[in-house]
Formats: sequence, C-alpha cells, structure tokens
Amino acid sequence: MTKIGLLAGSFDPITVGHLDIIRRASGLFDQLIVGVFYNKEKAGLFDIETRERMIKEAVADMPTVSVVTSSGELAVEVARRYGATHLVRGLRNATDFDYEANLEYFNRHLASELETVYLIASHAYQPVSSSRVRELIYFGADLDGFVPTSVIKEVEK
Ligand code: ADP
Repeated sequence: MTKIGLLAGSFDPITVGHLDIIRRASGLFDQLIVGVFYNKEKAGLFDIETRERMIKEAVADMPTVSVVTSSGELAVEVARRYGATHLVRGLRNATDFDYEANLEYFNRHLASELETVYLIASHAYQPVSSSRVRELIYFGADLDGFVPTSVIKEVEK
C-alpha cells in the first residue's frame, strides 16, 4: 500500500521546527503532502501564495514532498481528497499533546480509516513557533536559525 502523509498547519510562516518534521516524516512515507490551511476571514501575516512559495523553496531538495493549500475545509476532508493514508503532527510539549489528543478524538470519529502519526519535536526546535517568529519579524529581530532562508529573503524584501 502506498503510504501518503498529510501535514496540515497554518505555516505563517514555515519554521525550522516545521522543516524538521517535514524532513523526518518524508522518510516515513512514500509521499508527504504539506497542507497550508488558511482562514479567508482572518488574514495572517503572510498571504497564502507567499506561505506556499516559501515552503516550496524550503523543500525543493525533497522530491516526495508536495505543497497544497486549503481554506474552509477540515484536514480529514483534504486527506481524503488527496488519498492520504495518515495525518502527521508535530508535538512540542504538553500543550501540543493536550490539543492533539482532543483533535484526534474528533478526527477518528470523522475518518476512522485515517491514522495520525506524531513526531516529537527535535529538542533544538521545541521552543520555535510561528507566532514567536511573527513577533520577531514585527520587532525587526534577527531570524537566523528560526526559519529557512526562503522566509528570511521574503522578510528582507
Ligand atoms: P504553529 O503552532 O507554529 O502555528 P502550525 O499550526 O503551522 O504551527 O502547525 C503545523 C504542525 O507543525 C503542527 O503539528 C504543530 O504541532 C507542528 N509544529 C509547529 N512548530 C513545531 C516545532 N517547532 N517543532 C515540531 N513541530 C512543530
């Protein structure tokens, strides 16, 4: 059976923590789909095309990774549309765990055929979050080590 993973998130913007999960998950699945989920009513810091472009540039050396976007849909719906066999999530800490454990209950109810796989964040990246990165961008701080170069280039524009 072809194993296809879907890693869904807002990626506003992609961080080194996300990239680490993408790289590790890409070794577990035949294909890994990165799903950029956005809310039409709630503008993020980066628009959806920019988020997608920054991810594509960061995963250019990973041939089995593709990037899709989605709005107004559940992750399980997107997974079904692309034939994903697994959902993939990163876990940084106990807060992520509590959130994910609750989400898993509903995902299993909605799509019992989909198994979710959790990868514990590499220690060096556990404190990194998109929200903290957005704050650093707001204050014009150095982003080196927190985001891939595609994000640094976009911010410098
Ligand atoms: P964020 O919480 O930073 O806004 P997303 O909503 O884009 O992240 O999350 C997408 C997925 O990536 C989630 O499973 C989330 O737990 C995971 N993730 C986010 N940051 C990290 C990190 N630093 N290390 C590992 N996984 C992460």
